Amino acid sequence: MEFIKKLDLTAEKSKSPINDSAIERVKCLIIGSGPAGYTAAIYAARANLNPVMFMGLQPGGQLTTTTEVENFPGYPNGITGTEMMEDFRKQAERFGTDIRWGVATAVDFSGEIHKVVIDEEKTIEAETVIISTGATARYLGLPSEEKFRGYGVSACATCDGFFYRGKDVAVVGGGDTACEEATYLSGLCRKVYLIVRKDYLRASKSMQHRVMTTPNIEVLFEHNTKEIIGDQVVQGAILIKRQGEPDETEVRIVVDGFFLAIGHTPNSEIFKPYLTTNEAGYILTQDGSTKTNVPGVFACGDVQDFHYRQAITAAGSGCMAALDAEHYLGARIVFPA
Ligand code: FAD
Ligand code: NAP
Repeated sequence: MEFIKKLDLTAEKSKSPINDSAIERVKCLIIGSGPAGYTAAIYAARANLNPVMFMGLQPGGQLTTTTEVENFPGYPNGITGTEMMEDFRKQAERFGTDIRWGVATAVDFSGEIHKVVIDEEKTIEAETVIISTGATARYLGLPSEEKFRGYGVSACATCDGFFYRGKDVAVVGGGDTACEEATYLSGLCRKVYLIVRKDYLRASKSMQHRVMTTPNIEVLFEHNTKEIIGDQVVQGAILIKRQGEPDETEVRIVVDGFFLAIGHTPNSEIFKPYLTTNEAGYILTQDGSTKTNVPGVFACGDVQDFHYRQAITAAGSGCMAALDAEHYLGARIVFPA
């Protein structure tokens, strides 16, 4: 009976639309090549998991869109984001990570072996999957915002605030992130404008209180950004107060830095049919680990972190993901000679 079942299965398989030659089996598949993915790769490679990494559309991740990184330990004089990620890549390659071009376009996490489709054509079967696909900061969509990105426009005050010490800056948004960024910048900058499109803040009461009682933060309620202005770098912004109302007015502010804090979108869409996420789409991991609700699938970095979103925390959780994967596989650590 068992024998007949096996024969039947083989026959079924030959009818499958998936071409067997396009399927590859790996021990550890890493999706994404930011600080989280590369750190996971370094640890997984050193633990003999033979990791295969697909880099996605942004090799090196978000840091390749910034200029100087000054808060990552180990670089006392700072380093450009692109150079830093090049160092991460070299270190991952040194221990044998198989780094490839390709975007994960679909997954099937229903079985014990996880299937990930790359570029809609090749299927990888993986015993463990490490998801490190990051999150994308939302922008207003203004052409001037694009023009000045990295030249006064930033989506990360913790990262870039230091460059605006003693200067005047603006933050857009009314949530916890915007209030947190405004408060952080108020400690570095001379003046911080908080541009809020509604007539109230959406942030928690304690955050609101902190913003409203900080003397060098000025909240501009019911203001929308029309344009960011400047020559080579940001020099100011044109805002519309009470847009669409009879008393609508144009307001100009003079600032050197313009920070967006209107939310992030985690890159988790393709995993949602299988993985539990929060309302905003961040993958939920079990406390103190990178385990998702699917055994053998781990998430690290910004795709599961809506709070810290820093390169060092992403790298730290990448390390955790590789250790979690190694533990899951029961792999034996083999140190390089
Ligand atoms: P990311 O860096 O976002 O990398 C995600 C990776 O996943 C990318 O390689 C992408 O190609 C890949 N990917 C996405 N979807 C897929 C898919 N479907 N298939 C395959 N691959 C996929 N932090 C600091 O600590 N210091 C700083 O100075 C600093 N400056 C910053 C400046 C800017 C402008 C920005 C935007 C962020 C900055 N940050 C900084 C934050 C930091 O960049 C992030 O916290 C960090 O990069 C998150 O790392 P990650 O590996 O989780 O994801
Ligand atoms: P958020 O809560 O979604 O807030 C986004 C803010 O940006 C809102 O005020 C929104 O305005 C505004 N906004 C969105 N699009 C805009 C546009 N095109 N123009 C102008 N303004 C725009 O996002 P978040 O602040 O990043 O927070 C995300 C989650 O993380 C929340 O759950 C938050 O509580 C949490 N978080 C917590 C902490 C903390 O506890 N310390 C810190 C940071 C974040 P409207 O209000 O008008 O929609």
